[in-house]
Parts: sequence; structure tokens; C-alpha cells
Amino acid sequence: MKAMVLNEICSLEDNRTPLNLVNLPDPVPRAKEILVKVSACGVCHTEIDEIEGRTPPPRLPVVLGHQVVGKVKDTGVNAGKFSLGDRVGVAWIFSACGNCNYCNVGKENLCEKFKATGRDANGGYAQYMTVSEDFVFNIPDVFSDSEAAPLLCAGAIGFRSLNLTNIKEGQSLGLTGFGASAHLVIKMATYKYKHIKIFVFARSEKEREFARELGATWAGDTEEKSPEKLDCIIDTTPAWKPVVEALRNLKSGGRLVINAIRKEERDKAYLLQLDYPEHLWLEKEIKSVANVARKDVSGFIQIAAEIPIKPEIQTFPLEEANTALMELKDRKIRGAKVLTID
Ligand SMILES: [Zn+2]
Ligand SMILES: [Zn+2]
Repeated sequence: MKAMVLNEICSLEDNRTPLNLVNLPDPVPRAKEILVKVSACGVCHTEIDEIEGRTPPPRLPVVLGHQVVGKVKDTGVNAGKFSLGDRVGVAWIFSACGNCNYCNVGKENLCEKFKATGRDANGGYAQYMTVSEDFVFNIPDVFSDSEAAPLLCAGAIGFRSLNLTNIKEGQSLGLTGFGASAHLVIKMATYKYKHIKIFVFARSEKEREFARELGATWAGDTEEKSPEKLDCIIDTTPAWKPVVEALRNLKSGGRLVINAIRKEERDKAYLLQLDYPEHLWLEKEIKSVANVARKDVSGFIQIAAEIPIKPEIQTFPLEEANTALMELKDRKIRGAKVLTID
């Protein structure tokens, strides 16, 4: 099969073609696994973190990609949940142990044996992948393959982030950073809660305009003070300045949820501006989001089909995965980037 593989960790400043097109043997499903013929795979910022070594794959080479949509092509021994031809999705959660204190209460995202698709196991930047039948999702008919792919990561983690804010009807929600995940959160939040106010902090006027179009009560720059203090804020940026500035805009007892797998080092010095009474005192909380559990993926797919949420997408053939990644890195973002694979 054709696959775009990562052979070594590198900086995208030095190497703008980190992935190589290779021919690999078609994977064979083991017991309880299915073989998926991939038709679409979303391109995520986390792939850049993997390539640059902030969350490095444990073994190389590896096939990246954790927003995978395709059809069941074959099933392994004792795999009986899906039939050949069924359309399925694979998300960031590739597997978990299934029997630890976290797995037993549906927090498999925190399992010590958590494996991520496209990092700890080969993912969807390829014609085929194998995966446990317990870790795949049905895709509602309302979505095309390419529309469904980007929902599997940004949407699921956005769903988890929104739940972790503990927001209640009538409260105020801040979003700092306004990329793929935040677009989906604003749609989910305005659908789920009819009387919440949403405040968006984004660097570019274009993003702020888009936020207002999507229903934000107010949109300002990252370091602006919101017109009122907020009950909760979700940070989806790779930087530190938005964290400090968000804390200042929180109410007493408010919660900041950081939805980022890694933060970059560039502006870490901004943390020195942290002023305890202004930013943290009065029982303000910070909570990070790690991975996704299966219920986040299925919960989001369900709400996305109800609303429905149709992401803006920009497609690239598999062979142009490097171009898609570099455009993401360079913030040339016109909708979610999706690789299409034949
Ligand atoms: Zn992702
Ligand atoms: Zn576990």
C-alpha cells in the first residue's frame, strides 16, 4: 500500500518535506481487529508536534494521522462488530488497557497504556490501517468521508473541553484561540445552551469577525480585557500568553481549561507576568485536557449530526501531505485540511 511515513524527528524550519511516500505491505488484521480501507484522513496540528518531537512517536518509521474515515475491508478472528463495507471512523484513541482504575470509569484517555493513532500505532496517512473493532466509530450518513474526518479530533477534544469547563446554562464562556476546535466548540455550545454568552480572544481581525458571525457576543485580541469576567475559558493555543491573559479574565472560582497536547517554548517568559492576586487567587482553577475517551468521540459525532456541523474543508491528495502540514504550520488555514486517498 501507499503510505506517507515519518522516518525521523526533525524541525519543520529545516525540513519542509518531513514525510516520505513509500510502499508498505498491506497490514493484516489480528484477532478482534478490522482492516480499514482509508478514504480520508484529517491533518492535525498534533502531527506537527509529533514530527518536531514534542510528542514523539515511540518507534519510527510511523504512519501519522488520527482522523481516519474509511470502509471495513477485512476482519480478523473473533471480530464481529462490523461487516465488510461498513463505513467507520478512527480517532486519536487507538487503544487503552480496558481494565485499570481509569478505564473502568470511562476515563480511558488517562490510561497508562493509552495508545494514540498515528503516533503509537500506524494511522491514516495510508491506503489501509488496522485497528481494534472496539475503538472505531460509526459515521452518520449526513457526513461525506472528508467532512467526517476533521470532526474526529478537533470536535471530540472540543466536546471533552466543553464538558470539563462545567459550564451551566446562562453562564459565560471564553475561547482563547479560534482555530478548528474552537469553531466547533462555539457551534456546540450555542446549540446545547440557549442562554450563554461567548467571548472570543483571537489575534487576527478576520478570526474575530468569523467568531461574531458564529454567534460570539464579543471578540477581542488575546490581551484585551473582556467586558465582563467569565465563568470559564477554553484555551486552544500553543502559546503561554493566552493562558496568563485568560486567567485575568476569569471570575472568582472560574476555570481555565487548556486544550493543548503541548505548549511551545517560544513565549514561556510571559508566564513571569503572572500576578498571583490578579491571575490565580480567589479559587481560580486550571485544568488541562488529555486525549479523548470513546464517549467524547461518539458524543461529538452524535451532536454534530444533530446540529448538523459541517466543517469547511480543503482536500489534498495523500502524496501532498507535506504541503498540507506546512500550510498548517504557516497558518494558511482555509478550513480543515483533509487528505483524500484512493
Ligand atoms: Zn488531532
Ligand atoms: Zn487502562
